[in-house]
Amino acid sequence: VTDWQGKNVTVAGLGVSGIPAAKVLHARGANVTVVNDGDDARAREQAAELEALGIAVRLGDGATLPEGTDLVVTAPGWKPDKPLFAAARAAGLEIWGDVELAWRLRGPDAAPWLAVTGTNGKTTTVQMLASILKAAGLRTAAVGNIGVSLLDAVLGDERYDVLAVELSSYQLHWAPSLRAHSAAVLNIAPDHLDWHGSMEAYTADKGRIYEGNRVACVYNVADKATEDLVREADVEEGCRAIGFTLGSPAPSQLGVVDGILVDRAFVENRQKNAQELAEVSDVNPPAPHNIANALAAAALARAYGVPAKAVRDGLRAFTPDAHRIAHVADVDGVAYVDDSKATNTHAAEASLAAYGSIVWIAGGLAKGAVFEELVAKSAGRLRAAVLIGADRGLIREALARHAPEVPVVDVDRTDTGAMLAAVQEARRLAVAGDTVLLAPACASMDMFANYNQRGDAFAEAVRELGAGA
Ligand code: ADP
Repeated sequence: VTDWQGKNVTVAGLGVSGIPAAKVLHARGANVTVVNDGDDARAREQAAELEALGIAVRLGDGATLPEGTDLVVTAPGWKPDKPLFAAARAAGLEIWGDVELAWRLRGPDAAPWLAVTGTNGKTTTVQMLASILKAAGLRTAAVGNIGVSLLDAVLGDERYDVLAVELSSYQLHWAPSLRAHSAAVLNIAPDHLDWHGSMEAYTADKGRIYEGNRVACVYNVADKATEDLVREADVEEGCRAIGFTLGSPAPSQLGVVDGILVDRAFVENRQKNAQELAEVSDVNPPAPHNIANALAAAALARAYGVPAKAVRDGLRAFTPDAHRIAHVADVDGVAYVDDSKATNTHAAEASLAAYGSIVWIAGGLAKGAVFEELVAKSAGRLRAAVLIGADRGLIREALARHAPEVPVVDVDRTDTGAMLAAVQEARRLAVAGDTVLLAPACASMDMFANYNQRGDAFAEAVRELGAGA
């Protein structure tokens, strides 16, 4: 669609993607109607703002497709089984998400996209990638689920050479025509299955990111599902499958040899069969899963033609966002680490694998998760466990089954002092040289506003310990 004049566009959902989408399409001459399930004070305020611009809004009815709709643009979080979409499909209409809209509206000389998805590590990898691209002197930004919105990046005044784009499985579901320069799927573990309907549907939506790739499809050698997706993808002629591995790389892979990140896919010097990129210690923090993220970022940057030195400089310049394996303090020879962002079992497993002897603080809202595998794999590293939150009983039961020798303390309170109580228990159980690790494997909303607040409460409690020590 290039001519929006007179097109009837229904935007599904007010909110961070719906409001800018409605404004942009209205400005291009479309007749926009926003439909929204909610009808609360906030929605009314937002509706009034849009209506003042001449955009129609229907509150309290997100199910009915307005008469005469030519196109539906949806917030990425809307579930595909909603009646609105059934009606749209029955009418033969296209349904675009926020990513599809940005992709379609981008200009003819728009920056190519280096795209990243995966169950865990997306934000970190995209930020590492942006840091590497910047170190190469390129104009870039980390966009998508994070930072600058995609619409702003595509339509704003700022000029970019290339974009580092984080994409969720929801966004990919609604982005049928997206074609990245190169893309990576970091890993696939069960998450958001209620939304996608099944593990197969979730995996297939993630695989969309490879469709039409021009230069490289980057996959995780240790996660066969990602490699299978590359094989199934319909890509441009000449597009290569590039693996990353924490082991020694095969040809066409990036990996690690003697503490060095090594590239055997994009080798500049024909005399050599490998290119050294950086040292493992250049990765912050140098935990195994994070080295995997760095390799994926490096693979995408190298696919774009970035020299080895920029990979090293970009990784050195990178600092992780808060609450992602953040070292808070050492108290009495015990390290306190905040990985509040480990909100699912796959993430918690990765952070537990990064330490030797751990007092593990875990628990919260399980969102249907099963803890058996996580506990069985991590049991050997646990000095003790301190459990918090609504679903802590599930973790306690898994520990009793798979790690009966690990002492478990139950913090049976949800008030604002609960985290301090947990940290005090952890301190009592820890021995010099141990790590007290907050890696909850659960969502935070039973006790906190979000994972940030949970991590802040942990850091605050550690500071109180330190002050009393
Ligand atoms: P996302 O954007 O996918 O949520 P983040 O980069 O914010 O990912 O990391 C979220 C959490 O996932 C981290 O705190 C860490 O516990 C875990 N994590 C990060 N990278 C990986 C990875 N490659 N594999 C498994 N877990 C990871």
